[in-house]
Amino acid sequence: MGVCEFQKDLIDAFASARRVFVFTGAGASKESGLPTFREIDGEWSKYDPMTFATFEGFMSDPVKVWNLYRLRQRQIAAAQPNPAHVTIAQMEQYYPDFLLCTQNVDDLHERAGSRKIVKIHGDAWQMRCLKCGSVYDTRDFDLPDEFTQDTLPKCPKCGTLCRPNIVWFGEYVPREAMEASIGMSNKCDLMLVVGTSGEVSGGYGFAQRARSNGAVVVEINPSEGVLTQYAQFWIAEPAGVVLPRIWQAVMNR
Ligand SMILES: [Zn+2]
Repeated sequence: MGVCEFQKDLIDAFASARRVFVFTGAGASKESGLPTFREIDGEWSKYDPMTFATFEGFMSDPVKVWNLYRLRQRQIAAAQPNPAHVTIAQMEQYYPDFLLCTQNVDDLHERAGSRKIVKIHGDAWQMRCLKCGSVYDTRDFDLPDEFTQDTLPKCPKCGTLCRPNIVWFGEYVPREAMEASIGMSNKCDLMLVVGTSGEVSGGYGFAQRARSNGAVVVEINPSEGVLTQYAQFWIAEPAGVVLPRIWQAVMNR
């Protein structure tokens, strides 16, 4: 074994951990070339978030909003998981107790192999009935790329309009995803924060909670965010570059 480029304490924390909580955000998807909703220079900046990311905006023009999400789905389908997604899936295989909470609505984690995952902001592939709440995978239906008023997706059970199953501004996050994440941030011995500034709802307090319960908190994010204050280790590099190297060092230890 050669000289490790990372601090020994960092590698030790990964190596000795048993209960691991990973919290990811837009930065992880961005490294796969997926533009983020909030990016100022991203192509989504030409759309008003109050239109495509609120219930009121959806109700005022469901055709326009649905067509934006159809575009988003095509972007997601064209993107590929990056080495950060792959490494997080490998970590799931390694640790006896593991949970990934992602704020990303794409499926890049799943396509990299992650299974112990909760999606706290919803899933861009899913639609949900406005009346009965049934959730469907849009890929199970023969839907057009561009909806019209007449072809908007309807619930197969009750015939009511379906909406994207996304947590929009001012809406509650899914309760089960929230409870699982709180539980894991309470008991984890390592929390890994990847590609999120934590600016949405203060990262839901997960990092603060993990830290105060004695976990080692590691943040991988090129720019400092509101969660950095809770991290013993902040690695200011793209996760797709540095996380595989950290994991290699852990495996070689
Ligand atoms: Zn329904």
